[in-house]
Amino acid sequence: LAHYPVVNKRGEIIASAVTNLDIHDMARAVRTYSAKALYIVTPLEDQQQLVKSLIGHWTTGYGADYNPKRCQALETVRIRNNLQQASIDIAQETGSDPQTVVTSARSHLNSISLARFQEILGTGFPCLLVFGTAWGLSPDCIAAADYILKPISGNTDYNHLSVRSAASIILDRLYGRSGEP
Ligand code: SAM
Repeated sequence: LAHYPVVNKRGEIIASAVTNLDIHDMARAVRTYSAKALYIVTPLEDQQQLVKSLIGHWTTGYGADYNPKRCQALETVRIRNNLQQASIDIAQETGSDPQTVVTSARSHLNSISLARFQEILGTGFPCLLVFGTAWGLSPDCIAAADYILKPISGNTDYNHLSVRSAASIILDRLYGRSGEP
């Protein structure tokens, strides 16, 4: 989950604030599907401290005893300054540089379908699936990615999913066992 580089309402590049709910919900989704980790990406030291204390509460503090299931989810969270650090992490752990796949609510030329993304995942090479915050990932971030995923679309013209919802929908379409009894 990238908090930088993202854009604000005026298209200016900003570092957005971390939202507690994003971390909880996305960590639970990561734990529910076979994603390996949730990277919270922000260059802001105070925001990193905020995330560290949140994770600490639920993984080693009172929260870990109170709600072990939530502890299991938040244990997947890793804090990094930038997306490059997350990629380096993955390369060191897997031995392969990850393919970066970015997401957006807007359509982009040469975007790939989820089926194509599943094929890429099927190769066994690691992928870093990047979600944005605020008004979305910066154009340069999107341009630098290996792939961009086609936007999720409902059956109306309302297109304002939260990042938490978008992440859960995409993970379920990739890994979910819907339809099975
Ligand atoms: N207008 C922004 C955009 O185009 O991405 C919406 C930002 S939304 C609040 C924050 C993030 O949620 C996006 O950067 C993207 O990662 C994800 N997201 C939101 N709607 C999505 C959709 N329909 N399809 C795919 N991802 C979506």
